[in-house]
Amino acid sequence: MTIKLYQTKEYDTDFSTKIDSVETADTYSIVTFSETLFYPTGGGQNCDTGELIHNNFTYKVVDVFRDKSTDIIFHKVEKFFPRPGDSVFCRINWDRRFRYMQWHTSQHLLSQAFIRINPLFKTVSVSFNTELCTMDIEGFPKGDDLVEVEKLVNLKCSENLKIEAITVKDEDLKKLPVRRPPKVSGEIRLIKIGDWELAGCGAPHLSSTAQVMLIKIIKHEKIKGNLTRIYFMSGLSAIEDYSQKHNLVRNISMHFSTGSDELMERFNGFVNAFTKTAAQLKTVSSELGKILLEDAIKQAFIFGAGRLATITLSGERIIIAKEVIRSFSTPDVILLLLSIDQENVTAYLVGGHGIKTELNKLVAPVISEIGGKGGGRPQYVQFSFNKKEIENFKSRFMNQLKSIK
Ligand SMILES: [Zn+2]
Repeated sequence: MTIKLYQTKEYDTDFSTKIDSVETADTYSIVTFSETLFYPTGGGQNCDTGELIHNNFTYKVVDVFRDKSTDIIFHKVEKFFPRPGDSVFCRINWDRRFRYMQWHTSQHLLSQAFIRINPLFKTVSVSFNTELCTMDIEGFPKGDDLVEVEKLVNLKCSENLKIEAITVKDEDLKKLPVRRPPKVSGEIRLIKIGDWELAGCGAPHLSSTAQVMLIKIIKHEKIKGNLTRIYFMSGLSAIEDYSQKHNLVRNISMHFSTGSDELMERFNGFVNAFTKTAAQLKTVSSELGKILLEDAIKQAFIFGAGRLATITLSGERIIIAKEVIRSFSTPDVILLLLSIDQENVTAYLVGGHGIKTELNKLVAPVISEIGGKGGGRPQYVQFSFNKKEIENFKSRFMNQLKSIK
């Protein structure tokens, strides 16, 4: 087994040791020591990372894992080819470790708080893979429960409770108010947070609750069975998140020329005004569309099988294209609508009632010849092409129309 320095020297950031064993692959080595500060992935928590220094060269420690049957901890080291017995100096990534200790300690506080407000809310699993941590609990807490839990855990942070690891024997466990029975037997490591929380755990923790700084429940959702997933942030990550959200609110407030206390009211006013304007735009678009359609039909090009009405929209008018098409229903007329947006033309070809020509087949060769893209049904075709092909398109399409008997 490997001696777990991270359980007794949680605040140490480096250690010197000798290599016990090494297995070398092409680009990395798997290394063991007799003792280590590196916490291995487990219990829902990612491993420590860091660096290993050997003969003045520094190598990255990218992964750490434990073999449960032998209790040996393995370190995956990038591009490192030492020998057993070599002396090395190791340093863990302290920023990462400290954040993990904050997240992990927060989870202890949250798990205890949930069962304090309702004994049914037992924690069944946890995950600390990103700064947005999760814990799955039994039952379905309500919004008020979450508010109460959040207040309670932050109160416990402010009380600066001492956190310590104690070791007890199996037979003594029954006498203790342990929240979560340990999964191991023999000598049991328990984490004690003041007189408030006691649970079996093998990970490194903070030494006092004040170092958690802040716990914020972000959201919750029902998941499989009768479980609820709680999302939370804590520690430095929560403070960074608060700062980012504060900047976001401040920028939006400046945009609305108001303070954050009136922001929601201003935003609702903005949404209402936008909804009203969108409805007005739809009405005006429809009316303008009808006028353009009437005009285009009066000037329609007459060919063997019917008439072709053409409307060209550009600039801000392209916004009414869909309304024009929706308003079109003239029998025996084909509508060609060309919507020009900078260098791109979106074309719509719509057959009115009584048009027998399959417009998709009629226009397909023209689309291909001008390098366009798109297609559709016999009486509705949508395609696009480059603006410089617009005259080329018109003349080729007119030739196609004239070919209809
Ligand atoms: Zn723990």
